[in-house]
Amino acid sequence: MRIILLGPPGAGKGTQAAGIVEKYNIPHISTGDIFRKNIKEGTELGNKAKSFMDQGLLVPDELTVGLVTDRVSQDDCKNGFMLDGFPRNVAQAEQLDAFLKEANIALDTVVNIEVDKSILVSRAVGRRICKSCGATYHVEFNAPKVEGVCNVCQGELYQRADDNEETVSKRIQVYLDETKPLADYYTSQGIIANINGQQSIDKVFEDIVVALGSDN
Ligand SMILES: [Zn+2]
Repeated sequence: MRIILLGPPGAGKGTQAAGIVEKYNIPHISTGDIFRKNIKEGTELGNKAKSFMDQGLLVPDELTVGLVTDRVSQDDCKNGFMLDGFPRNVAQAEQLDAFLKEANIALDTVVNIEVDKSILVSRAVGRRICKSCGATYHVEFNAPKVEGVCNVCQGELYQRADDNEETVSKRIQVYLDETKPLADYYTSQGIIANINGQQSIDKVFEDIVVALGSDN
């Protein structure tokens, strides 16, 4: 089972990712984790990536692809893997395809969780976080028992500065602009599964499992 997971910030991707890797018993590969690990261990690719990041530059696609394909080549990925946060663009997707073809393997499904932009914005804008324990709430969908107070520890709830409507809206638009060509790319390959992310968490997961097939 070789999967790519796509979904905008606020689509509940983290929860679904955890469910998928557990059900299918495959490693969850996030580019953020790979970068951190390689930099920490001082690998050649890690050092190269760090030199770009230290200068405030984007890590070039070839380097990102190199880190991911290196990870995918490891033993625990023999029976499959789930990529999260990669590829970010069509250039990376094409390089990944070239690698997979060379390795004589193929992607099974690209799971694309879709949620309307207006809903993503309201999900983020209504988010409140506990200052003490980090528990998260939503003023509408997951309200605390007492307004502004954490259910767990009675700590004070606050709104992140970048969860205001303008910033959130920009953040999501950047993602959508970036991902649209990628979704088109995998649509043309016939391996995309568009999942309605505007349902309950359980229903979204059910739809994902149907799309992936329950074998393996
Ligand atoms: Zn708390």
